[in-house]
Amino acid sequence: MIGWVLKKILGTQNQREVRRLTPMVGEINRHEEALRSLSMEQLRGKTAAFRERLSKGESLDQLLPEAFAVVKNCCRRFTEEKRRIRVRGQEILWEMIPFDVQLIGGMVLHSGRIAEMATGEGKTLVATLPTYLNALSSKGVHIVTVNDYLAARDADWMGEVYRELGLTVGCLQHGQTQAERRDQYACDITYGTSSEFGFDYLRDNGMATTPEDQVQRGHFYSIIDEVDSILIDEARTPLIISGPVTVSTHQFDKYKSIIEGLVRKQNTLCTDWANQAKEKVEKGDLQGAGRLLYKVKLGSPRNKLLLKFQEDPGTRRAVDDAELEMYQDTRRTELYKTKEEMYFSIDERNSEADLSQMGRTFLNPNDPNFFSVPDLITTNHDIDSNAGLSVEEKIKAKAQAQADYEEASQRIHNISQLLRAYCVFEKDVHYVVQENKVVIVDEYTGRLMPGRRWSDGLHQAVEAREGVQIDRETQTLATITIQNYFRLYEKLAGMTGTAETEANEFKDIYRLGVVVVPTNRDCVRKDADDLIFKTRREKLNALIEEIKKRNAAGQPMLVGTASVESSEIISRMLRRENIPHSVLNAKQHQLEAEIVARAGERGAVMIATNMAGRGTDIKLSPGVAELGGLHVVGTERHESRRIDRQLRGRCARQGDPGSSQFFISFEDDLMRNFGDSRKIAGLMTKLGMEENEGLQHPWLNRSVETAQKRVEGRNYQVRKHTLQYDDVMNQQRTVIYAWRSDMLNSTDPRPEVFETVDERITSEVEARAGTDPVDLDGLVHWANSAMPVGLQKEDFQKAGGKEEWAKLLKAKVREAYEVKVKFENPEAVKALERFVVLGAIDRLWQEHLYAMDGLRTSINLRAYGQKDPLIEYKNEAYGMFGELMGRIKEEVVHNLFRSASSLSAFESFLSALPQRAGRGELPMQAQTTEGSMSMQAEGGSTMVEEVLAPMKRQGPKLGRNDPCPLDANKKFKNCCGATGAKGCLKVSA
Ligand code: ADP
Ligand code: MG
Repeated sequence: MIGWVLKKILGTQNQREVRRLTPMVGEINRHEEALRSLSMEQLRGKTAAFRERLSKGESLDQLLPEAFAVVKNCCRRFTEEKRRIRVRGQEILWEMIPFDVQLIGGMVLHSGRIAEMATGEGKTLVATLPTYLNALSSKGVHIVTVNDYLAARDADWMGEVYRELGLTVGCLQHGQTQAERRDQYACDITYGTSSEFGFDYLRDNGMATTPEDQVQRGHFYSIIDEVDSILIDEARTPLIISGPVTVSTHQFDKYKSIIEGLVRKQNTLCTDWANQAKEKVEKGDLQGAGRLLYKVKLGSPRNKLLLKFQEDPGTRRAVDDAELEMYQDTRRTELYKTKEEMYFSIDERNSEADLSQMGRTFLNPNDPNFFSVPDLITTNHDIDSNAGLSVEEKIKAKAQAQADYEEASQRIHNISQLLRAYCVFEKDVHYVVQENKVVIVDEYTGRLMPGRRWSDGLHQAVEAREGVQIDRETQTLATITIQNYFRLYEKLAGMTGTAETEANEFKDIYRLGVVVVPTNRDCVRKDADDLIFKTRREKLNALIEEIKKRNAAGQPMLVGTASVESSEIISRMLRRENIPHSVLNAKQHQLEAEIVARAGERGAVMIATNMAGRGTDIKLSPGVAELGGLHVVGTERHESRRIDRQLRGRCARQGDPGSSQFFISFEDDLMRNFGDSRKIAGLMTKLGMEENEGLQHPWLNRSVETAQKRVEGRNYQVRKHTLQYDDVMNQQRTVIYAWRSDMLNSTDPRPEVFETVDERITSEVEARAGTDPVDLDGLVHWANSAMPVGLQKEDFQKAGGKEEWAKLLKAKVREAYEVKVKFENPEAVKALERFVVLGAIDRLWQEHLYAMDGLRTSINLRAYGQKDPLIEYKNEAYGMFGELMGRIKEEVVHNLFRSASSLSAFESFLSALPQRAGRGELPMQAQTTEGSMSMQAEGGSTMVEEVLAPMKRQGPKLGRNDPCPLDANKKFKNCCGATGAKGCLKVSA
């Protein structure tokens, strides 16, 4: 009822919005008519005229009707002259003039909202309208596509219009050089994928060492095609540029065999329970069996016997009942007790592994506490309230407690990742082993993803399990989530066939409204109710029969699968039946686009995973409409309704006939993990379901949708949660990147450098003067070790109070600097000053990222201390950022005088910085965080990975025998002599 009312309101609101935009359509069309008498030359002249008017103060909004009319008129001319355009090597005849609904779509995009327009409505063309208009500003319009092929295709195809009208068009492709990228961004319009845009941003702001290295020129306006896929599906994927880490913390080798023992023990225990459950079932004691099986589920979710029982609706229901019982008790006493009956418990949904007391004792009989996290809060409290300790002893004791805590956390982290590797991840399902390497399988598309790694040690844990070479860990050098990248734009817009179900999320996170644009012609697609089967086998058999039947009549079919694996199974079955078909799995974008375009031909059978061929339009060939058009079959319901809608939307475009149906079974993942099996099983009995026979009923659809909504809601929470944490980082990144960019682009860096030096001096003076008694000795020592000022204690005493001290220092430091640079080449000095700041920012920022990773993973343990981890995280992060800023300043002061000023020595200084390697040579890859990977793999939450990594606030990154970063010719331990001095790189003793 509430849903209905909401829909009613939303519906009318949407209609009202569309109605509001409609009068403008008439205006555009009137302008367009007037343009018809112009010559092409005159039409092109409009572009310059518009730019002129903009410079005189007219707004883009004012130009909209005329600018849209120019694009439309240009399309008309192309159509009339039957223009052929070379698009990715093929000739395409231009025959499109924007429909009125497309003009409306264009207006929605210009207004910075999402236009929901069904597949085949011509969104590619729609984008040209606002793109042309906004490109008039000369600030650069970025159009984001889902893959490189579509970026190139659209730049070729739509580029014809822009170029004809006198604008320039660029296109980003993977593997382009920096110079090439710069050229693409210099264009009025740039097409590319989200990761190309995002990585360029990271390289520009996190790694570029000269302004010439930067390729982007701001973030003015972006239109994202298939916006749901980018902002919702891809939002889980932070872009990370990483390099190898200098210190390693893993101990997987060490714990592997003991964990194997533990897992064996647990398996024996669970198999026993499962066997007992079997006996109980035979005796008719379903309730008892359910309780036992639920224990098995907790302890060993992939137990064979358990999985078999799960297939039977009756026992399934008993297990669900047992689970429900546990969760109904708000104090969870029963659940905790149950968990203590096994060695460890696994939450399959969240894929968390948790040791019990029994497990801890097994691992270390002499000291079970060896494997539990010390309670730091209580320990610190005890230290504080211990009257027998001096201040110094307290500090020492706390440092020790912190160290113990980190060590224990590290240990537990290793154990927990190993348990996940053994109990949650399965070979050939979640990963494969190829050439002595663990390769992740993307469960979403089924693709192998060589080069990608689960982070936070999980990948190494799996490598340990498989006995393959354990790779070095990597460290983040720069990172941003897709979400935060797109929030950089002054104006953002998107288009897709499916945005409505996620309208809330777009609104909350991106402040993007959704407007549903009506179709050009009415959609006549027939969506049949789902067919539900008990087992996957029965489902597939029925599916093949269905394909045979329709194929015999000549009707083309698109069979959507959730993974490559199931594509292949269906393909094998079809081959056995001698039914010709093609299989697409989003591996070869261009080839697949060409194949999928033919899916509307008579007798075609196309099996495709989710993303395969997306963005390519399926046209019906003659005679097919009479057969009912394209029929779409879904072989599994996806976690999100949106993806299902997308699949359905691939048929019945532009008023064509078409139909769709989903085939599902109780063994599908969605049903297994989230379906309300009890209700469905009840329904099935009521409706009299026979063996081998599919069941169809609107009620069932509703149950499936309920399951989907549940998952959608949870996934949204996970994304929001990730974002809340990421927001903290985002603010910090903005500050650092802005500072960095200022420095990089400044023509005279010295005033800014001295601003930093002055801030540092002020804060040091404040700190030394703030103690009682005033620490003048300390100040004198600091000043002389940081800067060659040659000041004595008496100089300060003579000068007066703290204000005078600061003044004195600031004057002296300038004097000393003048002397230092007197005989240097002024240009070299400028470069040096710039690098002194950049070097400090980069090195310490990366350390900070590392520490923040650690904080992020350790903070969740505090949830046990009744504290809100997010607030804790924010507070700590804030404190750490303050420290970071202080340390950068300190390093600037030190390095200003310490770095050799001749450029060759300077180069060696640079080459020692980790990000120096990032100038082109660093392996750059999109990595997903463990959280996002495991979410895809297990439907779990990001909390999954809130396990520990070392907190290394001032982590030793260099050994005594490593080359000094300030002077590569010297070993670090005996370089400039400042070793160990405050602000200098710390050396591990
Ligand atoms: P969408 O991205 O909305 O699914 P596309 O941009 O791929 O749709 O376009 C689908 C098909 O519709 C393309 O073949 C395109 O040529 C055609 N098309 C788009 N707009 C028009 C138009 N105004 N008139 C005729 N054909 C059009
Ligand atoms: Mg499209």
